Amino acid sequence: MKRIYADYNATTPLDPRVLVAMLPYLQEHYGNPSSVHIYGRETRAAIDDARLRLAKLLGAQESEIVFTGGGTEADNTVIFGAARARRKKGRHIVTSSVEHHAVLHACQHLEKTGECEVTYLPVSRECLVAPDDLRKALRNDTILVSVMSANNETGTIQPTKDLAAICRERGVPFHTDAVQSFGKAIVNVEDWGVDLLSIAAHKFYGPKGVGVLYMRHGTKVNPLLFGGSHENERRAGTENAAAIVGTAKAAELAATTMGDEQTRLFELTEKLAGGVIERISGVYRNGHPKLRIGNTVNFSFDGCEEEGLLLGLDLEGVAVSSGSACAVGSLEPSHVLKAMGLPRELARAAVRFSFGRDNTAEDVRCILEILPKLIERLRTFARA
Ligand SMILES: *Cc1c(COP(=O)(O)O)cnc(C)c1O
Repeated sequence: MKRIYADYNATTPLDPRVLVAMLPYLQEHYGNPSSVHIYGRETRAAIDDARLRLAKLLGAQESEIVFTGGGTEADNTVIFGAARARRKKGRHIVTSSVEHHAVLHACQHLEKTGECEVTYLPVSRECLVAPDDLRKALRNDTILVSVMSANNETGTIQPTKDLAAICRERGVPFHTDAVQSFGKAIVNVEDWGVDLLSIAAHKFYGPKGVGVLYMRHGTKVNPLLFGGSHENERRAGTENAAAIVGTAKAAELAATTMGDEQTRLFELTEKLAGGVIERISGVYRNGHPKLRIGNTVNFSFDGCEEEGLLLGLDLEGVAVSSGSACAVGSLEPSHVLKAMGLPRELARAAVRFSFGRDNTAEDVRCILEILPKLIERLRTFARA
């Protein structure tokens, strides 16, 4: 059986060229970058070099780049760190109702402990945040706004520049979770006008467990981890040199191939969407059809259940998600689709296809052969 991986928003395979770049820092260059001797200095030089290259790609300064242990840690650092650093200024945070759990659950925790009040901006049926809603939500005691730049479940791209401009006007720091944008769209902190931004290497063919947090000069964010003075006292712990070198390499590769690859994936996903809608009745496409990252399409199938869809596709060799990986098995429908106003039955009947470099037109043809039969079976089963 042919296996098709269509879950690139969950994670991507490591690019072999990235592995080659990383290997020396897993083998011969093992020095602790904080050590003063030659072993340490070699590793330190590699980290400094990676920081410079990433800063260039993001339109930032080297000193504004902090390496973290992943996208979740970068997001958590912003939410908890800004809340603590700006406590005297206020305790109100604004975010959206469709954020990744790395932002959403951190905000909910601050509400539960009574440290913060949080406003969750609504989204349209297409998963879009309205800048006017942000304008209305801002208060004199708002200390942070965090709205993702592309949604991991629907692929919808938010009006990041407009949202950032509103915050700048009001003097409120603006964070964007750009984990799904980086490598799929041009991410530039100056062009976007953002103060804080998170990315994660394993979403663009880099290693897992490493992230980058951009922190604009003068933006106050307390650290999450305490210990040594690593990362300029912004993130304690011995740096993961190999992963950091791998992140820079993966980011450069993504930047050079992005344009053509995203066009190819956009066409492939449109072909899939067209085929699905033509062959299957009672199907709804979720998310904005045009304002989206090129690789992601999300459908709901009337009269089906998520578990049946995912397991059925897996049995046929097609690996997909229902959206947020954490939601599988929880029986709770996706918070993103719920926020978009989908009725519960449709929010529980969703499949996200997120394509990447190995997907081809042949994959789309295979999926279009498998899917209608599976849906038919699931619907017959549900009626019986
Ligand atoms: C994957 C993802 C994260 C979490 O990143 P990890 O590196 O897996 O911790 C955060 N936000 C979004 C939008 C994601 O897709």
